[in-house]
Amino acid sequence: MAFKINPPYDLDWTPVYTTKIEDGALGKGNKNGTILVSDELHPEDKESIVEHEKVHIDQIKRGDLDYDEEAVYWKGKKYPRGKMDEGSPTLPWEKEAYNKTDDYESL
Ligand SMILES: [Zn+2]
Repeated sequence: MAFKINPPYDLDWTPVYTTKIEDGALGKGNKNGTILVSDELHPEDKESIVEHEKVHIDQIKRGDLDYDEEAVYWKGKKYPRGKMDEGSPTLPWEKEAYNKTDDYESL
């Protein structure tokens, strides 16, 4: 087998799973690099959600974004989930995701 890939390894290996998402979100970027999209979405909406979540995966990979049960961390700053309007386009990590993708209804 003479199959070889050369660096940079920028192939798009992001696995996307269509599933039921517990908290009612339409899409989710996971810390392990996978993306979940809601099984309730129309196929044409799925693509823009995946693009959006890919931005979050990129933010996680480059170390700007992290999260746990309690809070979201952006560039070292803690945003407690209780006080946050999750998915709001005004949040810094969402702002970037919305800027880099096509417009669609708030997620
Ligand atoms: Zn988002």
